[in-house]
Amino acid sequence: MKPESDYERIENLIIGSGPAGYTAAIYAARADLKPVVYQGMQPGGQLTGTTEVDNFPGYPNGVQGPDMMLDLQHQAERFGADLRWGLITQVDFSKRPFKVTTDDDKTILADTVIIATGATAKYIGLESEVRYIGHGVSACATCDGFFYRGQDVAIVGGGDTAAEEAIYLSKMTRKVYMIVRRDELRASKAMQHRVMNIPNIEILWNHVPQEILGDGKVVNGVLLENVKTGETKQIDVQGFFVAIGHAPNTQIFSGQIDLNENGYINTIPGTTQTNIPGVFAAGDVQDHVFRQAITAAGTGCMAAIEAERFLSEVRSSTESQVMDMAK
Ligand code: NDP
Repeated sequence: MKPESDYERIENLIIGSGPAGYTAAIYAARADLKPVVYQGMQPGGQLTGTTEVDNFPGYPNGVQGPDMMLDLQHQAERFGADLRWGLITQVDFSKRPFKVTTDDDKTILADTVIIATGATAKYIGLESEVRYIGHGVSACATCDGFFYRGQDVAIVGGGDTAAEEAIYLSKMTRKVYMIVRRDELRASKAMQHRVMNIPNIEILWNHVPQEILGDGKVVNGVLLENVKTGETKQIDVQGFFVAIGHAPNTQIFSGQIDLNENGYINTIPGTTQTNIPGVFAAGDVQDHVFRQAITAAGTGCMAAIEAERFLSEVRSSTESQVMDMAK
């Protein structure tokens, strides 16, 4: 084991590179915290898998998700943020400075940590679903809907995401089957109304997918089970979209920090503070309600400001202790 003196020592570590992570990096760099950003497996985060983003302020004509994330990255780099392609694999928040390990076995000691690791789309968990990911199975209609123009597709889920994506798909495909496991939708009333009034969306109530069918290369159907009657039936589709929610990327923080029952990081309302002083959480990893790029960016900004204030307070209390001892 290396001696502690060999560890890299930094003031501010940001884990994650979506809108929350990059915005935190912009603010932290401008506040001279010399942030180090570990970008994770998908630099730029979930938006790098989307196409048009029309609701992020400042882009009057919309912007492609990957382009927007490059803009944010360049802005963070312009102020000197140290962006690193890699993963944090382990954290120890039991004392400060916090100790983290990277996937290339480097140990870093950080005075403050901003967690912005986001969330990942959930899949049903069928073996046949895994087999056809990228070959007819997708968890992002806005990314992949384009490939199914004029074809028939299915989407599973009954929440706002499924409703929004079903509407999106209905504009380019011939028919959208919406597979819903209960006899009602979880989506907001407004979204329910919209979905139910689109002629080429057919809702299959009380159904769950049993198997994704295909020819070994691409999807050509879904075997469904009616959960009320036990009957099965097959629908012929070329695309199968999953929209059953997201899971926060908090595995490495389990046991180190307060998480809620769904694994999201608990923050003190109105702040990005976690139960560990000096550790902050921003973006989807602590927000299962709004999950928007702009709200993620907003909380990234808050986290950097709070980290900066935390460090100033720690410094001024250390200085006053030194002065007391000198008296
Ligand atoms: P939700 O958790 O709200 O909905 C998940 C849906 O998937 C539910 O209908 C659920 O069924 C169903 N489901 C879950 N697991 C399975 C499974 N294994 N098999 C079949 N069906 C399954 O997730 P969303 O991603 O839709 O939304 C998350 C949050 O984001 C919500 O608060 C939502 O309001 C918000 N949001 C808001 C938007 C907007 O305002 N424009 C857009 C998108 C999301 P069941 O109902 O039976 O549990």
